[in-house]
Amino acid sequence: MNTVFSTSVPKGLLGEHECEATIITCIDFRFRDATLNDFIRGHLGLRTNDPLTVPGGIKGLVENDSVVAPYMRWALGVSARLHKPRELVIVHHSTCGAYSIADAKQEFARHAQDLQTARTMLAEQFTSFQKIRTFIANGDTEKSKIDYEEIT
Ligand SMILES: [Zn+2]
Repeated sequence: MNTVFSTSVPKGLLGEHECEATIITCIDFRFRDATLNDFIRGHLGLRTNDPLTVPGGIKGLVENDSVVAPYMRWALGVSARLHKPRELVIVHHSTCGAYSIADAKQEFARHAQDLQTARTMLAEQFTSFQKIRTFIANGDTEKSKIDYEEIT
């Protein structure tokens, strides 16, 4: 074996088989790390989770895209079956290139609509999730800040 790098992980982690949540979020590098580390782990306290990062988050599933929708159903099914998460969290973000909606209010409304549609759809298709929560991350370029808002 020719080890090129080693790192430590939290004690006991590698022996665990179940996680707390499945996360769906956009691939966008500007939001991804803050969303997974600060918001999901830090604020929501979901330390163990399966992140499913897909361009546009839930957009391809809601639109029943012929490539994205089957992939997302498959990935969600694997996470649900293997790791038995009780919660599903979906986080969309402002200025998302997958949506490419120039007007911020129109973009927010579209995200909110898709998140509500996704919540209903996934609650029917994946009954093992006891809770499905949806959020929008609003980025403020000038303040270098992201605010998270829950969509209910
Ligand atoms: Zn995006």
